[in-house]
Amino acid sequence: MAEAKKLYIKTYGCQMNVYDSERMAEAMGGAGYVETSSPEDADMILLNTCHIREKAAEKVYSELGRFRPLKEARPDLKIGVAGCVAQAEGEEIMRRAGLVDLVVGPQSYHRLPELEALAREGRRALDTDFPVEDKFDALRDRPKAKRGPTAFLTVQEGCDKFCAFCVVPYTRGAEISRPAARVLEEARDLVGRGVREITLLGQNVNAYHGEGPDGGIWSLARLIWALNEIDGLDRIRFTTSHPNDMSDDLIAAHGDCEKLMPYLHLPVQSGSDRILKRMNRSHSAESYLRLIERIRAARPDILISGDFIVGFPEETEADFQATMDLIEAVNYGYAFSFKYSPRPGTPAAEREQIDEAVKSDRLTRLQSLLTRQQRAAQDAMVGRRVKVLFEKPGRLPGQMVGKSDYLHAVHVRESTLRAGDLADVEITESGANSLAGRVCLH
Ligand code: SF4
Repeated sequence: MAEAKKLYIKTYGCQMNVYDSERMAEAMGGAGYVETSSPEDADMILLNTCHIREKAAEKVYSELGRFRPLKEARPDLKIGVAGCVAQAEGEEIMRRAGLVDLVVGPQSYHRLPELEALAREGRRALDTDFPVEDKFDALRDRPKAKRGPTAFLTVQEGCDKFCAFCVVPYTRGAEISRPAARVLEEARDLVGRGVREITLLGQNVNAYHGEGPDGGIWSLARLIWALNEIDGLDRIRFTTSHPNDMSDDLIAAHGDCEKLMPYLHLPVQSGSDRILKRMNRSHSAESYLRLIERIRAARPDILISGDFIVGFPEETEADFQATMDLIEAVNYGYAFSFKYSPRPGTPAAEREQIDEAVKSDRLTRLQSLLTRQQRAAQDAMVGRRVKVLFEKPGRLPGQMVGKSDYLHAVHVRESTLRAGDLADVEITESGANSLAGRVCLH
């Protein structure tokens, strides 16, 4: 029996890229590959790239440069580039990086075995199509690996919002929702392989409108209620949402669906209506605040997380202050924040840019406010009992690490615990980015 070939995948960016890398490993599993964690051992190296941040493409070229000695030592080694930089700059990568054997976009990675076969024949391959066939269908019967207790599951891809700073509509295409029956089948399969918590993924996940097994169009809330019926699935999460797609039934599900976790990531980017307009976000600061009120009315203990961009073109100190005021009003439990970076091909990239020093100053002020809020949210957990799903051993002997319902990282010293255990934990301490606790019952 031929020895299995080794595949090394390096993943950048969002959870959807993490999910895609798992599916690409499954696709190559069908071609006789097993995963390795060291590029030195690999017969094939795959970079699954992200196009969100500045100089994303340049980072790919410098990373490829690191593998040149390996390729020179072993010419049979195949190197591929996947993900959003592949989609946006495929031909340029083929032109500039001679050591690259194949380039594949996020919509056609189910064709990886064919592309690898072409590369083995010495023919370089580029595939950044938006194919008609469903990649998930093509991967349906591939060998599947044992799973840890948590998993991502893509239910929706692409985006029709065209925010002025974002490349996603160009790299991931128009919004597509997977048929509900297929999502449920994949969820049951994950639970059958040991998963207890599933995070539903989509660039605009709450715009989900998949065909239901009853022939009707299902909303994300309808899908969540169906997932709620799966025995062995204890927790459901979803990300990333747009304020305009937070439907009444989804807000109600946060109030009524026990397995839907009290954590919501709801990006807003700015608190200034003028900048929200220039970003093409199609909502106001006021409508966002009212939405948060309605969500908190449905689930008062929900932890709200946000995304912020500072230094967007034309942002004044007054606009920035409006963002700070919105943050004060919402009081976030967690948040991601970035300096605006112009992305090639997006409308805002053509506009006059704000001085880098101004961006850095605003980011520092914004992050110190967000850190204060995040810390206060964690401190408020001390003395409370929360459910924790344990995922892996910690650094200390007998230590286990997991996540609470609110997605806080929690560690305990309890040697009887195993990955996959769900336990009641009394929080005893709040640290910079995690909580410590004592197991009550498990
Ligand atoms: S909604 Fe999100 S993914 Fe869609 S264009 Fe805006 S920022 Fe990008």
